[in-house]
Amino acid sequence: MSNRFLHLAAPGVRGLAPYVPGKPPEQLERELGVRDSIKLASNENPLGPGPRALAALAAAAPGVGMYPDGSGHELRSRIAARHAVGTEQVTLGNGSNDVLVLITETFLTPEHEAVYSQYGFAVYPLAVQAASAVARVAAANPAGHPMPLGHDLAAMRALIGPRTRLVLIANPNNPTGTWLGEAELLGFLQSVPADVIIVLDEAYHDYALEHGCPDATKWLARFPNLVVARTFSKAYGLAGLRVGYALSHPDVADLLNRVRQPFNVSVPGLAAASAALDDTAHLQATLEVNRAGLARLHTGLTALGLGVLPSAGNFVLCDFGRPIGPINQALLRRGVIVRPVGNYALPNHLRITVGTPAQNERLLTSLAAVLAEGV
Ligand SMILES: *Cc1c(COP(=O)(O)O)cnc(C)c1O
Repeated sequence: MSNRFLHLAAPGVRGLAPYVPGKPPEQLERELGVRDSIKLASNENPLGPGPRALAALAAAAPGVGMYPDGSGHELRSRIAARHAVGTEQVTLGNGSNDVLVLITETFLTPEHEAVYSQYGFAVYPLAVQAASAVARVAAANPAGHPMPLGHDLAAMRALIGPRTRLVLIANPNNPTGTWLGEAELLGFLQSVPADVIIVLDEAYHDYALEHGCPDATKWLARFPNLVVARTFSKAYGLAGLRVGYALSHPDVADLLNRVRQPFNVSVPGLAAASAALDDTAHLQATLEVNRAGLARLHTGLTALGLGVLPSAGNFVLCDFGRPIGPINQALLRRGVIVRPVGNYALPNHLRITVGTPAQNERLLTSLAAVLAEGV
């Protein structure tokens, strides 16, 4: 498909393909005429938002005639208190995706390089390329590794050179679910030159804590070049509102704020995120549903003879050992939406989000039926 304006686009943009999100249930129902479909494709919280966030949303609705507080002062103060950092260390984003793009816009040029891992989160290649910068992609751990397809920090370190401005790490990583432990991550931080910005994307941190995944915010004072990204989209159940944030040295935050759009988080987003921070009961319920669901999916998928990667998130990456196209289509016809990861060059894998107990059973039963049909 030719585009008549392609030659006018910035060099990085010419080679980009748009991000393909998980299929919305409404679209599936329109396309295939199925009803009561379930979506386990985008790592959303199956419990949705908590009661406190919902109440704050309702209370905020009449205020949407006004611009939001452009500095997001109230939410930033609460986030800062939560992590025991200064308010000037918090940068808000329209989702943490926005934060990642602010970071690449701030630090990358066509002369500079960013290092990330093969199978690292899909937004990294997009954001680096949109900045027309050079991507240095480190080979992932091999399949037989305890963290198969996960980040190989030694391989990443080896790609850091004089032109490197940025290293992007997701811990745990999406789509693999794999994670890095405290000692190896700390050793890596110590080994990276002080003039290379290291982004630790902790979108799944609340889920990952119980798997021994470290909280990188404790290293912020020690490593001024460290940026930690967090989001309200996953465990806090607010994916549709788009709120995320970066924690960093105040001087990094100052630079990010120079490129940040003044009103990048909405009035409802600011209000609901603030309230969600205090809803520990909802977070605990979320973690319990996930703990049980992750174990159930692991057992159920393994019993079907499928390979399941270790996961510290709210999803699993499942290896079918053959191209998943027909299986995915058959699941869609049964109203079950999961996530093909061909965009990661993983044509044999599906990423499956942990759902409610009923959704997990529906996925497992549907998959068993599909496989029994010889699809
Ligand atoms: C989901 C996700 C994000 C970003 O989500 P937002 O909704 O933009 O906050 C960031 N990093 C990883 C690894 C993710 O999986």
